[in-house]
Amino acid sequence: MRLKSKILLFFTALSIALVLVVATISFFAFQSYSVAMTAEHVRTASEIIRVHLTDAMINGSMELRQGFLKRITEVQGLRTVYVVRSPLVDQQFGVSNAGELVPDDIEQQVMRDGMQRFETVQQGDITIFRSTIPYVADSSGTPNCLQCHNVRDGAVLGAVTMTMDISRLRQQTLMTVGGIAVTVALFLFSLFLFLNRLLRPISKTAKEVEEVVLQATKGNFKSAITIQTNDEVGQIARALNQLLRFLDDGLNHIGRQVSHLTGREPSQGENLLAVTIDMVEGLTRAQHFKQAIEEDEAKVEIYQRLSTTLQDEFNLREFSIYEITQNRSEMESVIVDGNLSGACHWCNSQVLERPETCRARRTGHMVDGVVQPDICYAFNPPMEGGEDYGYMCFPILQSGVVGSIVQLVVKGEEKARLQAALPYINVYLREAAPVLEARRLTETLKESSLRDPMTGLNNRRYLEEYVETLLANVRRQQIHLAIMMLDLDYFKMVNDSYGHDAGDAVLKALSQILRQSVRTSDMVIRYGGEEFLIVLQDTTEPAADQVAENIRRTVEKLRVNVGGTMLQKTISIGLSDYPTDSSTFWQAVKFADVALYRAKQTGRNRVVRFTQEMWEKDDHDQDY
Ligand code: GH3
Ligand code: MG
Ligand code: MG
Repeated sequence: MRLKSKILLFFTALSIALVLVVATISFFAFQSYSVAMTAEHVRTASEIIRVHLTDAMINGSMELRQGFLKRITEVQGLRTVYVVRSPLVDQQFGVSNAGELVPDDIEQQVMRDGMQRFETVQQGDITIFRSTIPYVADSSGTPNCLQCHNVRDGAVLGAVTMTMDISRLRQQTLMTVGGIAVTVALFLFSLFLFLNRLLRPISKTAKEVEEVVLQATKGNFKSAITIQTNDEVGQIARALNQLLRFLDDGLNHIGRQVSHLTGREPSQGENLLAVTIDMVEGLTRAQHFKQAIEEDEAKVEIYQRLSTTLQDEFNLREFSIYEITQNRSEMESVIVDGNLSGACHWCNSQVLERPETCRARRTGHMVDGVVQPDICYAFNPPMEGGEDYGYMCFPILQSGVVGSIVQLVVKGEEKARLQAALPYINVYLREAAPVLEARRLTETLKESSLRDPMTGLNNRRYLEEYVETLLANVRRQQIHLAIMMLDLDYFKMVNDSYGHDAGDAVLKALSQILRQSVRTSDMVIRYGGEEFLIVLQDTTEPAADQVAENIRRTVEKLRVNVGGTMLQKTISIGLSDYPTDSSTFWQAVKFADVALYRAKQTGRNRVVRFTQEMWEKDDHDQDY
């Protein structure tokens, strides 16, 4: 029930109750007042009658009593007047034969206890007031009753009963009470009208406030309240209108900003507030994501975080993240369906070797395979139910070219969800792009600082950087490392005779041999000018000897064409074992060098394994 109705209902109930109470109180007040007045008049009349009867008795004219009483009844309103004698009088003066009336029950009671009695009787339309008043013998009055009556003081000698028609009086009472009730009712009705008028603007304003608040919860702050009055209610309306305008402007402003950032425009009828909150929350989460990836060290961590976000934030289960390799000729599948994996799942695997077959990679534009499932031939849905699959591929640009590709795969109702989440996914990818670019640059830089540009082999810094990881692995797996130190024989002569470029060509050819002679997990380091270090992992001494010998022989057979001259070189190799020869890695490297020195000393073009006696000899300083 509305406030106004409540107030008016309450007021009406109160008014009715008030009118009834006023009417009842005044009715009873007037009634008791009129009864009291009548009783007073009756008492006066009975006293007059008594005086008259006493006089008549003294004067001996009691026979005139009936006439007197009859005359009295002619007084307006008085209906009957009669007197009854008490048995005491009869006892003293004998039973009268002057037509004495027999006392009725009331009169007998009155004469017994000397108490006056009044009652009101309704006879049809007429209201009768009956009074019976005792005549009490009083020795102090004038005349003294006891002079004639032989009774004790206070005895009841008789009673006078009068009946009066008080209908008129009752009518007047009712009229007066009615008048009062009508007056009060009229007053209350005026008050009701006034209250109604007073409440109308409050009620209207309250209703409008309710409406605009309802609209506001739906994100519409454009509605306004009519200003009904100039009082506090009007001020509330005015203040609320100002607040609404402020909120509307603010929301529009924020909405535009976040729409700009997310690229999402609220559609017609959408709750602008809810959409804005949603967008701000999305941006906040994207910001947290950005902060997290900025602190990630490697690209793979960023890809993993992106993968977790796709799963947790967007509830996507099937997706691939590809990366274009540094030389840009290939593509690697970094993460598939949340797992770090090299396997290409959602595309034809030819995209890995021929990245240009990937449409997103080639065009640098988002590929919408949800709207146009056939747009990219490389997409490879499962055989069963494949037609229900859709995909979207997002290129992530790094340094102006496509560096990575995120491919999202959806089916059935997931497609609509992906379309809706698209602006937010774009925000995440936009945040990831510069960080990935920075990591790529750092990794490239680091890679180049750890690699010898001429031979493409890792350099001594690389070994220094990764030795701890390498040794931790050795300790964990309890394996041996074979350390090989290699140095070309009489290499200086090549430079001197054929020039530096010829020397470089020989070094490049040698590097290739070294790389091909060992496993990919083994390390080949350009340790110095024409000195190389090879670390073979998890190998036995005979196997290492075999590899070294194989290298020596291959180099021996190598012919390098230098300006038409076929150059032939040999190589000397020193070998040591870690941890057999030394529990310290760098000491083991030193021992390999000692063995190399021995190889040089003993004729070159040979493989020499380190023995402790080589170290125990004093000639530690190599100069070969
Ligand atoms: P040995 O058999 O005793 O090793 O004789 P060697 O002449 O090879 O002597 P050594 O190992 O001391 O020779 C080092 C030479 O290698 C000196 C330098 O001219 C050459 N060298 C080092 N780095 C390069 C390079 O990058 N390119 C070229 N062309 N020559 C290099
Ligand atoms: Mg040397
Ligand atoms: Mg040399």
